[in-house]
Amino acid sequence: MGKIADNLTRIRESLPEQVTLVAVSKFHPVEVLREAYQAGQRIFGESRPQELTAKYQELPKDIEWHMIGHLQTNKVKYIAPFVALIHSVDSLKLAQTIDKEAAKVGRTIDVLLQLHIAQEETKFGWDAAELEHFLQNGELTALEHIRIRGLMGMASLTDDMEQVRNEFRTLHNDFVTFREKYLPAMDVLSMGMSGDYSLAIEEGATMVRIGSSIFGAREY
Ligand SMILES: *Cc1c(COP(=O)(O)O)cnc(C)c1O
Repeated sequence: MGKIADNLTRIRESLPEQVTLVAVSKFHPVEVLREAYQAGQRIFGESRPQELTAKYQELPKDIEWHMIGHLQTNKVKYIAPFVALIHSVDSLKLAQTIDKEAAKVGRTIDVLLQLHIAQEETKFGWDAAELEHFLQNGELTALEHIRIRGLMGMASLTDDMEQVRNEFRTLHNDFVTFREKYLPAMDVLSMGMSGDYSLAIEEGATMVRIGSSIFGAREY
């Protein structure tokens, strides 16, 4: 077995059965994704629409493509025909654009709402209060061509694992609250990356996004 297959096996064995693995393949060439595909991986995450579309065109059609990075509204149309899950919905305008582009291609697109849980200002996402406003007034839930499957978040980039755990716990609490009050069908909580996915799972993640632990370091 190759290194990528070994990594995938090791990580899959460490995940509870109900946790979905998204293999984050951004910045890696298609040959590398093919290796993971041959090892049985079918869900891939990418952070740039252009790269996502190019890889979709080259690789087998039974792959589920997830958009995990910040998405500009003018790029939605490129991925709307095929994307399986958009993790990074962080504004009403983006949600409305996805809804509109999904309608154009006759689809309903699964999405996650990204919450800002980290200390860093640079990370994207809603504040919980801001998101609650749009859930309460019905503007998000009224969109008929998106299906809100759950929430996504990224913890702070820090060695302080208690801090990271607290951020995941906050996100899980928001998930439970919003599911109870507004979105009873939510079933996905996407949190945890290579460095912190064990903690995320302990705090209730149902989906983890793992890149470097599978594919090695990225060359930007
Ligand atoms: C790159 C990226 C990941 C994967 O990060 P690794 O540390 O390589 O596992 C996960 N989620 C998002 C949103 C990313 O941009």
